[in-house]
Amino acid sequence: MSLSQLRIGHGYDVHKFADVYDPSKPLVLAGQLLPDELSLLAHSDGDVVLHAICDALLGALAEGDIGLLFPDTDPSIAGIQSTQILDTVMQKLRSAAGQIINIDVTVVAQIPKIAPHRDVLKKSLSLLLGLDPARVNLKATTTERLGFIGRKEGMACHCVVLIELGK
Ligand code: MG
Repeated sequence: MSLSQLRIGHGYDVHKFADVYDPSKPLVLAGQLLPDELSLLAHSDGDVVLHAICDALLGALAEGDIGLLFPDTDPSIAGIQSTQILDTVMQKLRSAAGQIINIDVTVVAQIPKIAPHRDVLKKSLSLLLGLDPARVNLKATTTERLGFIGRKEGMACHCVVLIELGK
């Protein structure tokens, strides 16, 4: 491995919860439908985990951000699944002959409780990214009831990724 081919990227995303649960807009995190009766307001499915991952990968690739690729003003992509957004970003990674070395995800949420879903979310990320589970970490924290997350108005996610470029 050549150190000069290593790139690091960071991604951060926030979405606001709808005041009232909308069954047509269920909670999707890391590409997984979760049973918690919460809806995130978003132009897409509002998957904060995949959005943070996409932005981290785009950061490592020096390719801007998710809003450049998928503007939330574009009506043709209303309701788009974030797995489709990830597919586009992964194509960019492949175009650079890049591969992910490891990925570290931190979900920041007062609600829902992430611990009961952690294994499912981690497995989903391994599959979506084509990565050995030993290269994927997913952790969660609350904000001790402080701020907008603590008031249960929304949730956030951070991601750091290390990639190696092949060319
Ligand atoms: Mg987003």
